Amino acid sequence: MRSFVRRAIAKIDQLDRRQIVGVLQSLSNELEMLENALESIEDGVILTDADLVIRYATSNCRTLVPMARSRSYEGMALEDALSDEHVKAYIIDQVHQRDEEADNEFSFQKGDKIQTIAVTVTSYKDAANAKASSFVIMLSDVTAHNAAERRLRRSENLASLTTMAAGVAHEIKNPLAAMDIHLQLLRKAFIRKGCLTSDDGARYLDVLEEEIGRLNTIVVDFLFAVRPLDSRPRLAQIRGTVAEVCAFAKVELAAHKIILKEEFASYLPRIHFDDHLVKQALLNLIKNAMAAMEGGGTLTVTLRHEGNDVTVQVADTGIGMEEQTIAKLFEPYFTTKASGTGLGLTMVYKIMKEHGGDVTVYSKKGEGSVFTLHFPVPQSEYLAIEEAMTGEASDET
Ligand code: ADP
Ligand code: MG
Repeated sequence: MRSFVRRAIAKIDQLDRRQIVGVLQSLSNELEMLENALESIEDGVILTDADLVIRYATSNCRTLVPMARSRSYEGMALEDALSDEHVKAYIIDQVHQRDEEADNEFSFQKGDKIQTIAVTVTSYKDAANAKASSFVIMLSDVTAHNAAERRLRRSENLASLTTMAAGVAHEIKNPLAAMDIHLQLLRKAFIRKGCLTSDDGARYLDVLEEEIGRLNTIVVDFLFAVRPLDSRPRLAQIRGTVAEVCAFAKVELAAHKIILKEEFASYLPRIHFDDHLVKQALLNLIKNAMAAMEGGGTLTVTLRHEGNDVTVQVADTGIGMEEQTIAKLFEPYFTTKASGTGLGLTMVYKIMKEHGGDVTVYSKKGEGSVFTLHFPVPQSEYLAIEEAMTGEASDET
């Protein structure tokens, strides 16, 4: 087709009017075909010239990223057409080959769902001007793909199941051995009739009962720890959830002579989180802090917006930890307590990974420990903050 057009151009002064119309007609047909092909793909495609002026944009672009209201974007500067500052900055950086490692995924609230869009910028040589590059910007909806990845991550989590099963096997050995010994003592006492004092009998039965209880805890905790988390995150303020946990723990903390301090930043962006799971993670941290402050102390719960994260910090003035303890902290069944399960922090870790976040620890022997939960702030929330601050609508024309 192109060679046909090129030949026609070369011979243009030999062509009559009818033939020229024919060439133009076939050119326009070809253009239409290309446009239809572009429109039929799911991704949004924007073609720009070297100065980032839009030459063509498929109509689905506006459903993928926030864009100015306009019937057509052709001839409009990309900067005016896109309304999301982060997407704009990203594209400009890519065009200038800056920050090539930058995250190319952007999340936007769409109805009650969050849509994640991957933006890729590639340059191509302009046929008309060999020196200048033009750009193709692809917008792909990766929401479903990311969800699939999350599911994969969950099954990876289950890979640690074998480690945990080995842990359970080890854990149940001790109570089973204790039960075995006491059953044998009971049996012997029965055989030598009359030798079993009621005191001894009661003691053996107590031990049996206690060990059965312990076995039960191990099994219940194990099932709880390996169960995939049923996480239902929503975009909300975390302050209320943290305040509720503090209110709930207050009485018990006071009973242990622990002063509770709440230091909450006055402004916080919203984050995606599952209310129930976050409460559970916080309670686990508070329980540990209480156990570390047997003689009383101060528990400080801090809520901050730091960098790209909202952080929830639980700091105690308790016994603190050795380096070796810190290294093993999140391992299933690691405990230094006589009646500990060693699953509390494993759970906290799992919950934070489920939130795409993290948990960090700082501790000093004899001084206390600080556990920090990091929740990523979604891109869409920064947009909302900017809007709130400038008082402008995102898609003004
Ligand atoms: P558990 O509380 O059942 O022992 P965890 O997973 O909650 O299990 O904690 C593992 C271990 O980490 C504890 O046994 C303790 O040694 C240590 N630890 C956790 N939190 C603290 C804290 N705030 N201060 C001191 N040590 C802690
Ligand atoms: Mg614990």
